[in-house]
Parts: sequence; structure tokens; C-alpha cells
Amino acid sequence: MKTSEDWLNINSFDAQTLEAMLKLRGEEANALHTAARECTQQFLGQHVFLRGLIELNNACRKDCLYCGIRKSNDDIKRYIISDEEVLAATEFALENGLGSLVIQGGELNSEAWTSRITSLLEKINHLTGASLGITLSLGEQNAETYQSWLDAGAHRYLLRFETSDPKLYASIHPDNDLHRYDERFAKIELLRNIGFQTGTGVMIGLPGQSYKSLVNDLITMQTIDIDMCGMGPYIEHHNTPLAKIDDQWLSIKERFDVSLNMVAALRLMMKDINIAATTAMETIDEDGRIKAFRAGANVVMPNITPSAYLDSYLLYDNKAGADNHRDKALSIILQDIALAGCEAGLGLPGHPLHFFRKQND
Ligand code: SAH
Repeated sequence: MKTSEDWLNINSFDAQTLEAMLKLRGEEANALHTAARECTQQFLGQHVFLRGLIELNNACRKDCLYCGIRKSNDDIKRYIISDEEVLAATEFALENGLGSLVIQGGELNSEAWTSRITSLLEKINHLTGASLGITLSLGEQNAETYQSWLDAGAHRYLLRFETSDPKLYASIHPDNDLHRYDERFAKIELLRNIGFQTGTGVMIGLPGQSYKSLVNDLITMQTIDIDMCGMGPYIEHHNTPLAKIDDQWLSIKERFDVSLNMVAALRLMMKDINIAATTAMETIDEDGRIKAFRAGANVVMPNITPSAYLDSYLLYDNKAGADNHRDKALSIILQDIALAGCEAGLGLPGHPLHFFRKQND
């Protein structure tokens, strides 16, 4: 069995080693996670950075076969949060030392929508004196839109490539020009070139996925040189086509175990990026976040969406914290950070070190 020391001494990870890492369980997996935590500590310190998550809208023009807010789901109340409500949530973030915001939502691309986001960013920066880091996760947009959002004060963008396997990508999306594998990657490249701190991620345990495919996901993240990653287990949403096919690759519990190993493996591969402990991990395991911190995650996103909308942004079933008001969401997370032996990065924007290292090179 490899010890955590052994893992820390490996400098480059080939596909075979990565596959073995993803398959570890029990004590062997613990040693891997301990190494990843140690590596995080060495390169980034003990802070976990906090991002106040605002789920801005659940209206979406896309129809991803796994997602609960897909366009064809007619069993949800669609909403868009007002600027005033976003600014109230921003004040909560400021008052509580959340160093940054994540504004996430369904993908819309009308001119009215994209310019509204630009003006919202200006309002947020006016309110905060541009003191908060701002991450956007609003899907695929054109270069002008991304540029205007960056110019209006956003720093980071999250766009998961979902899977690096083109066939698997095609099998979990409708076959039309809104949902193309190549386009997804082109947008990630565009975000990088425009100057965003760029984050991506994948779902783990999709029907038809495999360990080899996940290994390739990790190698792809390294190849495209991401700054941030948010990844987690795929979880069924009852009213989606993907949940209806009877073809599980991994049980729910295994998806969690493999997700932890993915976090730990990515940490050892890319030592100075930001990696999130995701809500999907917390949804499967009640100590999911704590375990993710202990396996090398250094970012967490307390949900500060106004309570009235929390039960309308359900990407999958049984989402953790879907009935928690923001005060409660934050206090649970602060407790989890302490239980994991880390320290909350209160008041810190928590920019990914990797982004600035790259620029200096
Ligand atoms: N519209 C934005 C945000 C999408 S929601 C965008 O396109 O980037 C953020 C992420 O939630 C998705 O990228 C996907 O990886 C994840 N997600 C969606 N449905 C899920 C499910 N059923 N299980 C787990 N994760 C899911």
C-alpha cells in the first residue's frame, strides 16, 4: 500500500497511476486524501475560501439531459432574481466576510439579459468598492459578452466541460448546435484568452462513463491549464431523460468515493489551483464537504440565494441545504471548515494562485 508520503513524492501522474488512484478505497484512499490535504497546506496554506453563491435564474435555453432546470422541464416555477435582491445578498456577503460572490444560473443570451448582467456587475462593484471577487457561471456566451462582463468587474468564470469524452458528451446532451462538445471547449479557451480566471469541472458517475474517461478528464484539465475546478457526483433528477435510463455505472456511494479521489488526484497534479467542495458531494454524504476539504478542496460556496427561490434551483434531487436560510447555510459551512481542521478565509477574495503564477512565467 502507498503511504501519503509516497503520494507526495510523485511528481508526474501517468494514466495508469491515475486510474489506480481513482479506484482506491478505505485506508488506501485515506492515505491519498491525506497527501492531497498536506499538499494543499504546503502550496496554499490552511484557508478555505468562501464564495457567496447566488442562483440568479433558473430559466435556461438549454436542454441538457441530466439537469433539473433544463428547458423542457415544465414542472418548475421559473424565476429571475431582481437586482435589489442580489444587492441585498451582496451586503450579507460583505457583512459576513465572504470574500467573493458566485453568480450562477441558467443559460440565457438575449441582449436584454447580457446587458442586464453587465449593469448588475457595475452595481455590485459600486456597492462593495470592488472589494469582492466575482465569479460568473452563466453558460456559453459570445466573446463580446464575456469581454463586457470582464470589463464590468467580473474576475472568474466557471464553465464545466462535463466530460472529456465526445461520445459521452453527445449521449448526455441533445443533438443540436446549442449543445456541442467542441463549442464547449472553444468557450473555455475563449474565457482564458480574454483574461478570466477560468474554472471548469465534470460530473462523476454518469451512465456510460468509466475510470479511463475520468482519468482523461483529469489529464484534460491539466492540459488546458485551468485555474479552478468544481466537480462532483452526478445525481439523478427525477424529471430528466437521463434519470429514466436504467444504466448506472456507479452506485451513489461509489460516485461519492470516486469524487473524493478525483479531488485528491487533481490536487496532487495541479497544486496551486482552487478546487471546490461542491454541494453535490454534500448531498450524497452528510460530511461530504468536510471530507472534500480533507482531500484537498480549498473553496466552498455557501448559498446566499434569497430563501424564496431556493427550492426552484434544483439541478438534481435531494439537494443539500435547499431549505436553509443564508445565515444557517453559512454557519454550517464555517463549522465544517473548522471540523476539517482548516481556517475560513474570511474577508479574502481567494484568487487562484495558479492564475498569477502563470502570468509571471
Ligand atoms: N448554466 C451554467 C450553470 C450550469 S449548473 C452552465 O452552463 O455552466 C452548474 C453545473 O451543475 C453544471 O455544469 C453541471 O455540471 C452540474 N449539474 C447539472 N445537473 C446535474 C446533476 N443532475 N447532477 C450533478 N450535477 C449536475
